[in-house]
Amino acid sequence: MRKKASSVIRVTDEERRILCDMADSMYLNNGVGLAAVQVGIDKQLAVIDIGKGLVKLINPSITKKMGTETQEEGCLSVPDAVVKVKRAKKVTVSFLDENGEVRQITAEGLFARAIQHEVDHLSGKLIVDYLNPIKRLFLKR
Ligand code: ZN
Repeated sequence: MRKKASSVIRVTDEERRILCDMADSMYLNNGVGLAAVQVGIDKQLAVIDIGKGLVKLINPSITKKMGTETQEEGCLSVPDAVVKVKRAKKVTVSFLDENGEVRQITAEGLFARAIQHEVDHLSGKLIVDYLNPIKRLFLKR
């Protein structure tokens, strides 16, 4: 979970199946997002639903960031931690959809935050990395 996930070269039924399973797990755990690396799959896949419909992202890459905002975040992989994370207020993300088509979304607020959180996961980064070293040490105990 701490390394960069592998890019998807071709979108196949396997990727589509994994994305469906990931969405199921996300809803089951009342999460707003889930990255494949969190369920032990080394692929650039993520699902997000902030309550406005399911979004499936393949090879997501943030191409534009605007503004900053600091808010508390939780993570299904770090159950006990609530961490204040400074992120862009608004982002543009490019990705492949389930049919392998290149798409782009510009998001703000919670949606933008969820995208940045999942993209972090896919590059091996967790919310605890935003803590200062002393707090991080405390959390490890
Ligand atoms: Zn997370």
